[in-house]
Amino acid sequence: MTEDYSAFGYTGDGTAEDLLAWALDRYHPRIAVACSLQHAVVAHMASRIQPQVRVFSVDTGRLLEETYECARDLEQVLGVRIEWYFPRHEAVEQLLRSGGTHSFRASVQARQDCCGVRKLEPTRRALTGLEAWVSGLRRDQAASRHGRGKLEWDGAREGLLKVNPIADWSTEQTREYGRRHGLPHNRLLDRGYTSIGCACCTRAIEPGEDARAGRWWWELDGHKECGLHVADWSI
Ligand code: SF4
Repeated sequence: MTEDYSAFGYTGDGTAEDLLAWALDRYHPRIAVACSLQHAVVAHMASRIQPQVRVFSVDTGRLLEETYECARDLEQVLGVRIEWYFPRHEAVEQLLRSGGTHSFRASVQARQDCCGVRKLEPTRRALTGLEAWVSGLRRDQAASRHGRGKLEWDGAREGLLKVNPIADWSTEQTREYGRRHGLPHNRLLDRGYTSIGCACCTRAIEPGEDARAGRWWWELDGHKECGLHVADWSI
């Protein structure tokens, strides 16, 4: 079934490339690609359309070495320079002083507080001044993402457009695209990891487990979101 995004002013064929071309033509340089450094598919596609495309990543302070290696390789292959954002050091200091180094294990709320300080707040700053941003969100990553549109208004700020060009892609499609274009990817994806975040909150999954099962695996409510891709993540 064709997805209708005419309410956003988009009437193209809905392919990832066409959506990105439309968004970049309309919003560059007030649009940026958020890269979680698992693969380079969306950043590559965007950089071929607009070589000056802006790409940003958030360093939570607890990333895995393989993630930094992916960032290095992505910059070399795509010829882009990642705009890095870090948490505010005062907030991280307060987080550790009040709850210790592993406060996020105490409760779902404590974990969300940590994600708020280390990930959401820096992302909110990255989005400041933008009119649109691009994510690599895919519907097959988690049940909570099944209904997501390729274009949607972001709950973080009125009038901010979120573009999810590969929302309807499968894992295999992203891998095939990467192979075809010789793109770097996070080497942990070759070792059973299917969703990669902070070192202390990420593990490989077992066969048959949900793709997001390796994130915050000690939580039993199945939500598995840092808050960035929920409908309203304003903080
Ligand atoms: S993934 Fe874990 S360490 Fe990283 S911000 Fe969230 S709770 Fe904190």
